[in-house]
Amino acid sequence: MLFHSTRGKDNNKTFEEVLMQGLADDGGLFMPDNWPKVDIKHLQELKTFVDVAKYIVPMFTKSSYSDDEVRDLLDNTWHNFSEEDLIKIFDINETTSVLELFHGPTAAFKDFGLQLAAAFFNKTLQKQNKTAIVFGATSGDTGSAAIDACKEFELIKSFILIPEGNMSEIQRKQMTTVNKPNVFPILASGTFDDCQDIVKKGFSERTFLKEDQYLLAVNSINWVRIIGQICYYFFASLKVNKLSNPLNFSVPTGNFGNVFACYAASKMGMPLEKIIVAVNDNDILDRFFRNNDYSKRTVSETISPSMDISVASNFERLMYDFYLSRDSEACARLYSEFPSQSIKIDDEMWQKSVDLFMSVSIDDNSTYNSMNFYNKEYDYIMDPHTAVAADAVNNLREELRNKTIILATAHPAKFPNALKNAGIKNDSIPHNLKEVLAKEEIAEKLDASENSIFNYIKKNN
Ligand SMILES: *Cc1c(COP(=O)(O)O)cnc(C)c1O
Repeated sequence: MLFHSTRGKDNNKTFEEVLMQGLADDGGLFMPDNWPKVDIKHLQELKTFVDVAKYIVPMFTKSSYSDDEVRDLLDNTWHNFSEEDLIKIFDINETTSVLELFHGPTAAFKDFGLQLAAAFFNKTLQKQNKTAIVFGATSGDTGSAAIDACKEFELIKSFILIPEGNMSEIQRKQMTTVNKPNVFPILASGTFDDCQDIVKKGFSERTFLKEDQYLLAVNSINWVRIIGQICYYFFASLKVNKLSNPLNFSVPTGNFGNVFACYAASKMGMPLEKIIVAVNDNDILDRFFRNNDYSKRTVSETISPSMDISVASNFERLMYDFYLSRDSEACARLYSEFPSQSIKIDDEMWQKSVDLFMSVSIDDNSTYNSMNFYNKEYDYIMDPHTAVAADAVNNLREELRNKTIILATAHPAKFPNALKNAGIKNDSIPHNLKEVLAKEEIAEKLDASENSIFNYIKKNN
């Protein structure tokens, strides 16, 4: 199976090409040429998360690796998790469970996608005898998960821009306390958008690269991250009801990568009732699902900072596959003037949404209330991102028929201020987070300007 761009001008790519390239040359996002279909009977026989991954991942990698090679790689891909089977499921009550995706080394679900990405990056670099630079900006958990996933691979140097702003101290310290010769956290005096612009420029100019060196993107548009996330939807369905009944998944959403993975799993044959798209005040997706209005607004800072986005980059994949039935010309047209012009599609086309999607926007106040409610009623502590998804479920309860799974995307201990403000006392801080808090921060402080940052990378490359 090969891959192609949602905008139709960058096609017939292998898995490895898509992995190393990230964004398609025409500005679109890569998609598999078809949806591989799972054999439910086979899945029902499987036990562990890695078993599931060994079945799912090779469906996407055949153009570059043999299935055996990939299965070997997957034996060692996910590491430093505190749960033996990586994921825990907590039953809130008979109709609702929480899928805890935060038991990895950086205590957020991004470890699933980024550890898989790093393992494949490294395999490819070894095979081709090349090195790589990972370059990205982060407003929350992406940077720490990328740094952690790549830090043991000597062929990869990571340069991550950390903007001033809303991330928690632990989130920042997870990047600035690593202290490895191939890890370069940069405290950039600017906003996330300033940093994003510099990263974009870096990818178009590539002035700091050596010959034979890759520049790798770790943002959520990389297809390999979606694959890692597809695996846990199948795993959850297997554990909850042996894939016998459709489930609802409530997903705290920013860039739409996690939601898209759920959609992808359903296209591959996972039984699914509804996907609940739960967002904070940054509600571009909610405005689309409710009013057919996909228009960019300025970002507001919330207590769920990893969902503070103005546009949801992975949404283009859904637009292309679900609404436009894979019409890449139509997709290119819609996105050619976006975001200066907002996206509104045919009403009839937009009506399809109700088959599969529900959406809710939850403000900070309701997020605090939700954290409190689950703490008091069920003695369960949620981080603010998870609490957004949980509150969405409370709002939609009447409309859901089957069991609902809330995705817990971060460990509550990552957001101590939010817990304090909600009046929740949390005694369980995972060992790895405790360690991070005690360590000294080492990071370069630089102006958020192309010159200073590109020079710094060149000097350390
Ligand atoms: C990244 C992140 C999200 C949003 O995920 P998307 O795939 O961008 O929608 C939600 N919660 C946490 C804790 C995150 O780190």
